[in-house]
Amino acid sequence: MSEDAFVEHRKLIIAGSGISGLSAAIYAARSNNEPLVFEGDEPGGQLTLTTEVDNYPGFPEGISGPELIQNMKTQAERFGAEVDHGIVESVEADERPFTVTMKNGDVYTADAIIAASGASARTLGIPGEDDLMGYGLSTCATCDGAFFRDEKILVVGGGDAAMEEANFLTKFASTVYIAHRREEFRAEDYWIDRVMEKVDDGEIELLLNTEVTELHGSPEEGVDHVTMVRHPDGHPTDKLDDPETETFDFDCGAVFYAIGHTPNADYLEGTGVERDADGYVVAKGGKGANQTATDVPGIFAAGDVVDFHYQQAATAGGDGVKAALDADDYLEELEREERAEPEPAAAESDD
Ligand SMILES: Cc1cc2nc3c(=O)[nH]c(=O)nc-3n(C[C@H](O)[C@H](O)[C@H](O)COP(=O)(O)OP(=O)(O)OC[C@H]3O[C@@H](n4cnc5c(N)ncnc54)[C@H](O)[C@@H]3O)c2cc1C
Repeated sequence: MSEDAFVEHRKLIIAGSGISGLSAAIYAARSNNEPLVFEGDEPGGQLTLTTEVDNYPGFPEGISGPELIQNMKTQAERFGAEVDHGIVESVEADERPFTVTMKNGDVYTADAIIAASGASARTLGIPGEDDLMGYGLSTCATCDGAFFRDEKILVVGGGDAAMEEANFLTKFASTVYIAHRREEFRAEDYWIDRVMEKVDDGEIELLLNTEVTELHGSPEEGVDHVTMVRHPDGHPTDKLDDPETETFDFDCGAVFYAIGHTPNADYLEGTGVERDADGYVVAKGGKGANQTATDVPGIFAAGDVVDFHYQQAATAGGDGVKAALDADDYLEELEREERAEPEPAAAESDD
């Protein structure tokens, strides 16, 4: 490390300023662990993509995602947490303290790290997406489904998540449509069976060998319709020039992408922190202390970067709290060990 790049040593660095990182920051700051929170490339995390959070406990009228996050940031800063721009590029865990290298080249050292870097919902990258995300386009049925009562809802995807979301959305929709680019779903039979029962009941309709190519609407009015393409052999966007590919417009009031999430944890590569086949960080879990510990002592993980199942603001926040408490236990133990270490013997003098 060049000396110019070294910025400072911190007791605790938190990667991520989403709800898990900020919840951890509130608790860590109150435990005098002086956390430094790095915001990554999405300050405030996924909740900043949504206009209305209706299920976070304590807000009977709901609250906008950005406002909830801003409140938490202010609360964390009130107790002394520092929130700074910066993307963690890599962590060196062979020696203690850890070395944390940022994307801009800055280098920090830290006694403990909380990975609260979330997961990013995959998107299609089609026209209309940026304008309508949070305004009729969503990546979270549990979060946003209830806003679209009696609407035609289109779910995009063909795996377990798409089946589960489609099934859930039948609670609200007039009809749920599933657009899948192939003939066969790759979901588990359990989920396919549940969806097919609802197809038989008329609650779900399947649009197979079909892909969405454009979303139409406005932030004021929401989604109005989508443009889709269909080819009898599937993967129609790969066959746009094929005469058998048909293009058509489809009216719907909301679109839910269920094409997976990518956990943001590549900066932990090489540390020894275990990740599962999809890249999610494996934390100890279970009951009792240290649930957020990874298999590298001193590195903890919280929120959607670990949790591929619940992925909710309240669960991510709770996870952040646990990580801060686990990190506090670890830091106290570290201090106890340092205090117990004998002073290096004074060099004997010959005179
Ligand atoms: C459109 C939408 C609407 C939603 N609505 C609701 C809702 O109504 N209710 C609900 O309960 N949940 C909702 N959710 C889910 C909820 O937002 C997530 O479960 C929650 O945000 C997860 O929090 P997190 O802190 O774990 O991760 P995230 O919110 O994903 O935050 C991750 C943070 O880590 C940072 N980061 C990433 N990589 C790095 C790095 N290398 N270095 C430093 N920082 C990094 C990012 O910039 C970000 O700040 C919604 C999600 C979406 C996408």
